Amino acid sequence: MFTRLYIHIPYCQRKCPYCAFFSEEIAGTDLNAYASLVQHEMHLTAQATAPRQKLESIYFGGGTPSLLDPHLIAALIRQAGTLFELADDAEITLEANPGTVDFTRLAGFRQAGVTRLSLGIQSFDDRMLHELGRIHTSQQAREAFAAARQAGFDNIGIDLIHALPGQTGPMWRTELKQALNLAPEHISIYGLTIEEGTPFDLRYDSGSPLLPDEDMAAEMFEAADDVLEAKGYGHYEIANYARAGFRSRHNSGYWKRDGYLGLGAGAHSFLRDAGHGTRFSNSADLKEYGAALLNNTLPRQGIMKLTRADAMAEFLFLGLRMAEGVEFESFEREFKTGLEDVFGREIRQLLERELLTEDSFGIRLTRRGMLLSNQVFQRFLP
Ligand code: SF4
Repeated sequence: MFTRLYIHIPYCQRKCPYCAFFSEEIAGTDLNAYASLVQHEMHLTAQATAPRQKLESIYFGGGTPSLLDPHLIAALIRQAGTLFELADDAEITLEANPGTVDFTRLAGFRQAGVTRLSLGIQSFDDRMLHELGRIHTSQQAREAFAAARQAGFDNIGIDLIHALPGQTGPMWRTELKQALNLAPEHISIYGLTIEEGTPFDLRYDSGSPLLPDEDMAAEMFEAADDVLEAKGYGHYEIANYARAGFRSRHNSGYWKRDGYLGLGAGAHSFLRDAGHGTRFSNSADLKEYGAALLNNTLPRQGIMKLTRADAMAEFLFLGLRMAEGVEFESFEREFKTGLEDVFGREIRQLLERELLTEDSFGIRLTRRGMLLSNQVFQRFLP
């Protein structure tokens, strides 16, 4: 069972040198053909799924979904509404690269039924954008934002990256100020990580003097917290801030372990079932993905039925990502046993290290815990 639909578009105009997401340079690829494959996958999935699922959200992620023409996005949304049931107030998000959109295109997406735009701005500093290999300038990003407003988007999120090569604390504060000048509804902030196998991996080793050290990265994280909270953006998840009423409903579903179906090459799924849920992914080989579908087979692999221990660990490390943390009552409702009975020792140790805080409702990460979240999550792994 699923209530959320994710559609992966694994193409970008140009590959950014820091990026480890599954995407390829578009280089003349026919996106109509890719969209047809996704439509076929949706059709096969609907046939194999009973009863008809009600969708609360759809998310077009990538890669660069804004490379798809609006009529293809419209067709995918229409098909989802026909094969499944689309809630009247469904949140439909499209990730857009500012270098791929103008007013006409954005108006087309809005008309297609997209309700929320996630704009990958990353930085307002042209030198940083150049270093990141982005295809847009900061001016183009501002223009894309203004065009999105003009096209009728009243729910826009922007992405920023901090701890960039050569970035200082004052430079980061300037970035935050520029983000606030746009007055988006939602702001996501990621720290740059050097991913294995990317060109950045060769360019910067972990001790590179150009990369802000851990203390500086922590200061930047805290500055974002102070500056954005003061302007009314609630820090509702480790990397996410939103004005009241504008949290990403789709992404919140991931952290609450809602079932979601992922379509497209490389997409991941989590289906709720009578047990503790099943996770699987689609082949991230575009040829293999296409061949399976042409053969009327779903391109699924790595099918994993979760054990009770897996599900409990997930409940903790996904739930703790959110500001509300994990409620004692909801854990007990889900697993018919107390949180302290299962993870009492781990929780006590993390409370002592001031990475967690606890009250009568549940546990949540402290600010330090958010900074060191990976260390916290590891403690709950089975
Ligand atoms: S546009 Fe986004 S998905 Fe595409 S290469 Fe750059 S960072 Fe990766």
